[in-house]
Amino acid sequence: MLVDTVYGGARFLTGPEFTPVDVLAVHHGRIVALGDDARELPARRRIDLGGAAVVPGFHDAHNHLAWFGMALDELPLGAGDVRSVDDVYAAVAARAAELSPGSWIIGSGYDQNKLLGGHPNAEALDRAAPQHRVWLKHVSGHMCVVNSAVLTDLDLNHVPEGGDVVHDAAGSPTGLLREQAQLLLRPLVYPIPVDRVTRAIERANHELLAQGVTSVQEAGIGGGWIGRTPIELGAYQNARAEHVLNLRVTVMVAADAMHVVEAAEEDEMRFGLDLGLRTGFGDDHLRIGAMKIFADGSLVGRTAAMCDPYVGDDGGRGYFQTPPAELRETIRLAHRSGWQVATHAIGDRAVAEVLDIYEEVLTAHPRPDHRHRIEHCGITRPEQIERIARLGVIPVPQGRFVHELGDGMISAVGAERAEWCYRQKSFLDAGVELPASSDRPVVDGRPLLGLRDLVQRRTAGGAVLAASERLTRAQALRAYTYGSAYAGFAERRVGRLEPGYLADFAVLSADPLQVEDLGEVAVLATVVGGDTVHDAVGLC
Ligand SMILES: [Zn+2]
Repeated sequence: MLVDTVYGGARFLTGPEFTPVDVLAVHHGRIVALGDDARELPARRRIDLGGAAVVPGFHDAHNHLAWFGMALDELPLGAGDVRSVDDVYAAVAARAAELSPGSWIIGSGYDQNKLLGGHPNAEALDRAAPQHRVWLKHVSGHMCVVNSAVLTDLDLNHVPEGGDVVHDAAGSPTGLLREQAQLLLRPLVYPIPVDRVTRAIERANHELLAQGVTSVQEAGIGGGWIGRTPIELGAYQNARAEHVLNLRVTVMVAADAMHVVEAAEEDEMRFGLDLGLRTGFGDDHLRIGAMKIFADGSLVGRTAAMCDPYVGDDGGRGYFQTPPAELRETIRLAHRSGWQVATHAIGDRAVAEVLDIYEEVLTAHPRPDHRHRIEHCGITRPEQIERIARLGVIPVPQGRFVHELGDGMISAVGAERAEWCYRQKSFLDAGVELPASSDRPVVDGRPLLGLRDLVQRRTAGGAVLAASERLTRAQALRAYTYGSAYAGFAERRVGRLEPGYLADFAVLSADPLQVEDLGEVAVLATVVGGDTVHDAVGLC
């Protein structure tokens, strides 16, 4: 048999235990042989990887691809030189000088926890950009600030449930819109033309491939305030057709893009998308994933629903973005209609509510291998860990949150509950197949940084957040490859370097299981389905 390519001269970390072999053969986009079985195979190409290490392509189980691509064009407010709210105003004023009056100034990535002076406000933004419409998105995606030119166009008498418009002591809106209140902006900014979304996907694709990512699960298209257009899947299909999307993408569908569908009385599939499209539809490159729904908000924004109050917040316990009764009914309908469900829940009160709902629907309508998920699963009480494992629920935490947002989390929840933050090891010990993800662009999504944070759990301020939740390197690598694939029903196709698997891998400058500092490892090349899609040093 003449195979397409035989790769050698590298440590290929194969199988569930990452056992190293020195040769790997690829044919028609799949791995066909390893080690001695591959060595003597006749091949069209032989590539020597010059002593590199090769891992299964990184798989980001919760990622906002188009949002990330769009953010690359926006005013960056999370950069190191933006340290105070005055720096934000100066950046807005500088952008205003470049843009014609009346146009939008869109900024992203600000975090009031890291800014001297806290949240920006409308009044000061009006002074910085008196002739523009200003919209600054919080790094978490859970809130934003707008100026008066935007506020006057919002229907402030009809604030959606599960969100609020913040007012100052005098009763005027400060410009801060939290959670669902951001939906007030939709009539002004949506839908975004589909070609702009396609271009954002193209940019994001390019960046992620260079970082060794080969698969992503996009956490919610077509609805919410993150969804860019109701026809968002069309942008992905266009990107595929134009050959500018090499990543394998599983798109979750925002719950508010789904609806009751007409079906026969005896059919259970009565909720979802037209034609009965549901989780699993698509091919190896582009597939429909879970229904994505929000239970609550974020820890650093203090909007996640907690059992006990936040530290120093006058008894505030956060709130539900989707009222529990509606959450229950939507999840029930989606479950009965055959969807995987991915519910954003960060506070322990939200996690409890979601577990109650999952248990209820699974008891009433058992379904083997449902793989319902809890996105983030930020604060998990000790008794909730066993419940998650027993119900077969997959928690989807973000290692990088610990580094970038960990200090804000500790001050929001205090030392005791910090031990329950973004658990990893506890889930593994309970028998969960743990995925890894970044929630990019909320934090830096480079997987090698994510791996380091899964292992070290060190905050930017230098604290260690719940040392008992640290993973070994092999556990972290498994989460970022096989574990994520499992969370997206793809573990038989991607996530391992083994015969029969798709030939998706990252060529690294050093073995991540052995190197001193994971953050120093470079991605030399990335291969998807046997095609070289990134090649930094002319290796292959
Ligand atoms: Zn997200």
